[in-house]
Amino acid sequence: MKRLKIKEVLKGELVGQQVLVKGWVRTKRGSKNVNFIALNDGSTINNLQVVADVEKFGEDFLKDINTSASLGITGDLVASQGSGQLVELNATEIVIYGKADPEKYPIQPKKHSLEFLRENAHLRFRTATFSAVFRIRHAMAFAIHQYFNNRGFVYLHTPLITGSDAEGAGQMFRVTTLDPKNPPLLEDGKIDYSQDFFGKSTNLTVSGQLEGELGATALGEIYTFGPTFRAENSNTARHLAEFWMIEPEMAFYELQDNMDLAEDFLKSLIKYALDNCMDDLEFLSKRLQEEEKNKPMDERSMELIEKLRFVLENDFIRLPYTEAIEVLKNSNHYKKNKFQYPVDWGTDLQSEHERYLVEKHFKKPVILINYPKEIKAFYMKQNQDGKTVAAMDVLFPGIGEIIGGSQREEDLDKLVTRMNEMGVPAHEMEWYLDTRRFGTVPHAGFGLGFERLLLFVTGMGNIRDVIAFPRTPKNAEF
Ligand code: ATP
Ligand code: MN
Repeated sequence: MKRLKIKEVLKGELVGQQVLVKGWVRTKRGSKNVNFIALNDGSTINNLQVVADVEKFGEDFLKDINTSASLGITGDLVASQGSGQLVELNATEIVIYGKADPEKYPIQPKKHSLEFLRENAHLRFRTATFSAVFRIRHAMAFAIHQYFNNRGFVYLHTPLITGSDAEGAGQMFRVTTLDPKNPPLLEDGKIDYSQDFFGKSTNLTVSGQLEGELGATALGEIYTFGPTFRAENSNTARHLAEFWMIEPEMAFYELQDNMDLAEDFLKSLIKYALDNCMDDLEFLSKRLQEEEKNKPMDERSMELIEKLRFVLENDFIRLPYTEAIEVLKNSNHYKKNKFQYPVDWGTDLQSEHERYLVEKHFKKPVILINYPKEIKAFYMKQNQDGKTVAAMDVLFPGIGEIIGGSQREEDLDKLVTRMNEMGVPAHEMEWYLDTRRFGTVPHAGFGLGFERLLLFVTGMGNIRDVIAFPRTPKNAEF
């Protein structure tokens, strides 16, 4: 018989038929006469209730069916007598693929802390929470490709190993095959990277943007979607050392077009989640509400699905950096000295400032534009005022920065001057500058942190819980 997925079976259309399902036991409870097995195969958050007759299968056989044991079950699908499910399966044949010793299996059918599950990340997919998170992660990845494909963007695979250390977005991880104990040295005592694997010093990429620009200035619109590495020692709930980033780059786009795309992109991803992941979202919403019960009223966040709809239905606020500084300085929060970090024109906004603007002041997502050039990368388009660049950061409630982007400087002379001012070695980046030498065009792009998006969509609080195997300082387990 052909095996069916539990998601299909639960629709109830096959009542009266024999079906074969395969999966893992979530729970088993029993009475003298029957055992109830909740079976899950990962296709849905919902379990299939299997009814196993004790006399038929024997107590000896049934005692090996414990949480996380793997089973294949054939049975008659019937309308359920109990509440809580539409159908249940009366087992006629049960195959035990693998037992799971209940004394040793670390994840018990009770509530575990997320910290505990992080330490058991190799098994946490088997919990309802993480199966929901990773199904949504998959759905969002699919929706991203679909979004860009529908609009004629070309998916460009930019390299993970990079020879340019000028991307400027953060600390990098070195890639080398040299012997760390005995590296070849130059006369001045520095390491001789000409003898290294690539004949030069190389690192893991912090962004695919510079290569993305090469693609966009010929293919028109491209996007990257791949792993990104930052050796930043920031042990926060929003930073990973290895994360996934989506970086669209578009020829003939200016800042306005870039903002429009970013807003439409985020909204369409949220809409996709609402349209396709409702079971998982409802589960995560309940989970979140349980957690929030312990928090004081004014610290509780909006209900998850309501929050997603809210973002979908409201225009994002668009605001110049300079005005954001005014808003912050005029706030009671500032006057009462409640910000930890200073608020001054020219300094980068900290997460506390971003979240104040979004959560307390505007109560909507905010796109901040035109940042001081000193705090932004060399490639951003220089504005007429001589002080700011055409940057844009999208700020989300509960997260802070979810997208960072800009219009790029397309003028060769201005770009090279800025590189020199900022100590970026222009001579090593002739390949990049060629885009400005030959048929330069206005263009723009941005980077969306995939896990930051997932934090928002799933309502999870820690970025380590939305990537399967998190890499953070002092942690590369599994
Ligand atoms: P932040 O100030 O929050 O560290 P950033 O300014 O370093 O972010 P960008 O260099 O603009 O960020 O990167 C683009 C996007 O990548 C960010 O908006 C964010 O969504 C995501 N991102 C950046 N660093 C990390 C990280 N360490 N872990 C996860 N996502 C990240
Ligand atoms: Mn950063």
